[in-house]
Amino acid sequence: MPMYEFGCPKCGVVITELCKMGEKGERLVCSKCGHIGLTRHISGFSSPGISGGTGGGSCSPGCSGNCAGCH
Ligand SMILES: [Zn+2]
Repeated sequence: MPMYEFGCPKCGVVITELCKMGEKGERLVCSKCGHIGLTRHISGFSSPGISGGTGGGSCSPGCSGNCAGCH
């Protein structure tokens, strides 16, 4: 399973979760303030240079924009 970073839109805390592919974080609960619905960050694993091309069509059909888990 891929690891995703999620940010809380309310308090700004960032957490890292192992989630299934396509997880958007909308059901995750902030461990700090209890807000439900976190925002997924696009984290390129150990490649901080990857930021462009999100949502591009060069990946597999199941890829939701973060290619970290699909190839
Ligand atoms: Zn929070």
